[in-house]
Amino acid sequence: QRSGYTEAETRLIVNSPLVKTTENGVLESTYVYRKNHFEQTEEGLRVTPKEHAYHFKTHLKPRKTGVLLVGIGGNNGSTAVGSIFANRKNMSWRTKDGVQTANYFGSVTQASTVHLGWNGEEQIYVPFKDIIPILSPSDLIIDGWDINSANLYEACQRARVFEPELQDQLRPFLEPITPMPSIYYPDFIAANQGNRANNVIPGSNKQEHLQHIRNDIRNFKEKHQLDCVIVLWTANTERYTDVRAGLNTTAEEVLDSIKNNEDEVSPSNIFAVASILEGAHYINGSPQNTLVPGIIQLAEKHNVFVGGDDFKSGQTKFKSALVDFLVSSGLKPESIVSYNHLGNNDGKNLSEARQFRSKEISKSSVVDDMVESNRILYPESKNPDHTIVIKYVPFVGDSKRAMDEYICSIFMGGKQTFVIHNTCEDSLLATPLIYDLVILTELASRISYSTDNENYRQFHSVLSVLSLLLKAPVVPSGTPVGNAFMRQFLTLTKLVTVLAGVSSDSEIQLEFFAP
Ligand code: NAD
Repeated sequence: QRSGYTEAETRLIVNSPLVKTTENGVLESTYVYRKNHFEQTEEGLRVTPKEHAYHFKTHLKPRKTGVLLVGIGGNNGSTAVGSIFANRKNMSWRTKDGVQTANYFGSVTQASTVHLGWNGEEQIYVPFKDIIPILSPSDLIIDGWDINSANLYEACQRARVFEPELQDQLRPFLEPITPMPSIYYPDFIAANQGNRANNVIPGSNKQEHLQHIRNDIRNFKEKHQLDCVIVLWTANTERYTDVRAGLNTTAEEVLDSIKNNEDEVSPSNIFAVASILEGAHYINGSPQNTLVPGIIQLAEKHNVFVGGDDFKSGQTKFKSALVDFLVSSGLKPESIVSYNHLGNNDGKNLSEARQFRSKEISKSSVVDDMVESNRILYPESKNPDHTIVIKYVPFVGDSKRAMDEYICSIFMGGKQTFVIHNTCEDSLLATPLIYDLVILTELASRISYSTDNENYRQFHSVLSVLSLLLKAPVVPSGTPVGNAFMRQFLTLTKLVTVLAGVSSDSEIQLEFFAP
């Protein structure tokens, strides 16, 4: 993929006393974080702006990183692996519209740019990936598990995502890859997945299953001499598990529940626990509530990152940008109806009520923060009517159709209705997010911060900077969930510019109207 930037344009030489690189390759930067402190009194809202110095240390060299996908033989899994080979080998293939070359479009880390300022003649944007050294998806070593034994070439054919000529080119790379056997508890995914389950770890002892997955993770790490392992769930949507005292509200309960072979321990619970115990970060790309309080506590104890839930890829991503825009414009969304039909295997899985319910919950929460942000429009904080429908239509395969109707109350009792139609291969939207989640998690593992320049620590185990990529972000207890797209984007891009010591406030654009 040709880049429109010269190498020199992407090499930042930072000229600031607040930044230095140590001999052992650690970038140290200091940032003054300005934030307001509030006190609501009877006279008014007292606001006290304060400054907080943050010191960051970032190891500049990305770690050798391996990714284990749960559900590697699915549409996302096979697309994620195939696209890495296509990019590494710089493959091109013919389509009816001309020759197409591999790229990483749709990945924020690989294909987006960040605004640094104005040089007097033009706006300066630099690629996200060049601000702080990060991995490329092409650097990742990938393997994984699936309850179906198809090799990855067969999986790509089944997925109907890649053009045939690309499938042919990928064949020698994908055919030798077969998924490791996985854990299958039929109660958690739809009954219609039963005939796919021909590659499962024998037995029904959950403690043994945990040990099996831990061994797989350890062997993978040793075989490839990895410094960092990330396990990412892109298998079918599970139903919710119960969350209750005695079962999974503390780390101890979770470990005991596995020992006691509790029915409510799901396959994804076992994968998350196995990862954490092996020091591997765990990300949940599906909507189910894998990250129960006990698993989060376990991650905190082991200093491992967890992130989730549910890739924010198409309809919901658009919603988190559109509703933000509407509410910011002073318009009041009153009704949001989101209709989907899709024909891929997870669409089939979602045709069962309990799995659909997981998806419905994650898709519904996405407007909450925007409604709460404005009590002029929503004096009672009552959310808009919000309905989600998903139908399985095999013929359309991975090409998902999303139709949304938004009705807003506008000026003087008027109504404004938007109808949005979106057609897209689901996996071509989700796969770049898989890369970003992994790349950002690896970056987070190289960062430590301090507020006194003495005691340095890692970010919170619940890695909420991943929120941009997730529909129903899991956040540290007591902190707010943010869904508004641009705010999430700025959190991430501001963070990397802060680490590099080049953060600016030029979004205000003072230099243009108050030069
Ligand atoms: P898919 O059905 O094609 O792939 C899922 C794979 O997981 C299958 O190969 C299945 O055999 C396997 N599997 C099921 N249970 C397993 C287990 N316990 N262990 C190992 N493998 C198991 O689905 P997909 O389209 O690739 O989507 C994967 C997940 O990503 C779904 O949960 C979906 O909700 C989520 N997701 C997808 C998108 C998107 O845009 N594609 C967006 C958000 C979330």
